Amino acid sequence: MRELILLESPSTEKAAADHCCGFLAGQWMLRGGITHILKREQRGNHLRVVWPPADLEPTGQLLVLGHYDTVYPTGTLEKMPFHVSGGKAYGPGTFDMKAGIVQALFAFEVLQELKLPVTKNIVFLWTSDEEIGSESSRSLIEEEAKRSSAVFVLEPSLGLRGLLKTSRKGVGQAELVIDGRASHAGLAPEEGINAIHEIAAQIARIERWNNHRRGVTINADIVEGGSRANVIAEHAKAILDLRAWRPADMHTLEGKLHSLKPIHRGAKIKITGGFDRPPLERKHSAALFARAKSLAKQMGFAVGEAAAGGGSDGNFTAALGIPTLDGLGAVGDGAHSTQEHVVVKAMPQRAALLAALLATC
Ligand SMILES: [Zn+2]
Repeated sequence: MRELILLESPSTEKAAADHCCGFLAGQWMLRGGITHILKREQRGNHLRVVWPPADLEPTGQLLVLGHYDTVYPTGTLEKMPFHVSGGKAYGPGTFDMKAGIVQALFAFEVLQELKLPVTKNIVFLWTSDEEIGSESSRSLIEEEAKRSSAVFVLEPSLGLRGLLKTSRKGVGQAELVIDGRASHAGLAPEEGINAIHEIAAQIARIERWNNHRRGVTINADIVEGGSRANVIAEHAKAILDLRAWRPADMHTLEGKLHSLKPIHRGAKIKITGGFDRPPLERKHSAALFARAKSLAKQMGFAVGEAAAGGGSDGNFTAALGIPTLDGLGAVGDGAHSTQEHVVVKAMPQRAALLAALLATC
């Protein structure tokens, strides 16, 4: 894990990311995996590893999914060095989700060393752009998922009990653009159409669509507008974060957004965007979770489940109807923060759980 963390791999720095991808390929190759580096022009390369059953024709495929990119630019290690203290390993990308990749590597070793009777192709897919929306990997992830009977996502678990994620919200982003008309705020205020006043009124309206009981949220995350003092603002723009548990709520929210009408006379509204990650619904994870729970019990520990407001690439695979179990990665805390860490002693147990799932699914 130390080696992997020292290879910083931000989603937006291709050279650094490729270096990390090459290292991972080497680790899987060393252990007998058949590795393919899937080259990308703009983003880091993706890594696909196949491990076919020893002496028989594979009867299907299982997909182990994760990303090796992080949200930290290169050089972060200087302020946030990799270190282990008090049983926790700290560093950029430890929890989200390089420790998960390390666990998968050890699960892979376990399958080989114990010569477990695996009958399916096991495909490990490590992508480079999950943290920025998975644009260069989504179709690849979906293709692999369609060939698979189960998908195991090595994203971080939830809380100190390492809860697996059996549902995730659908996530989207929309841009609200207002065009008004500039005018001198003192000499001709009546000739202006204030885009900032319009966007403020629209945001106040949109805020009322939040429904925390149903898990529908809409939040203005960024607002920009105006040019200078003394001038009635001609333009304003807001970036909205959209989330919902249910596809029906997603569609309702999008419908409402796209039918917004101006409040101030003469103001023009333009809305673009919408949901881009469908929800991971529990009906697509329940059976795998039940299996994980029973396997953990046989090995002498317990696993629980949780719902997560954030999306992952597991949302894409579950939306295709492929059974998907997420949050199988590390136990820890502080994703995307300076305190990001994992609990070291939980790692072998998590690796064992993944190996058991792969050997029995
Ligand atoms: Zn992640």
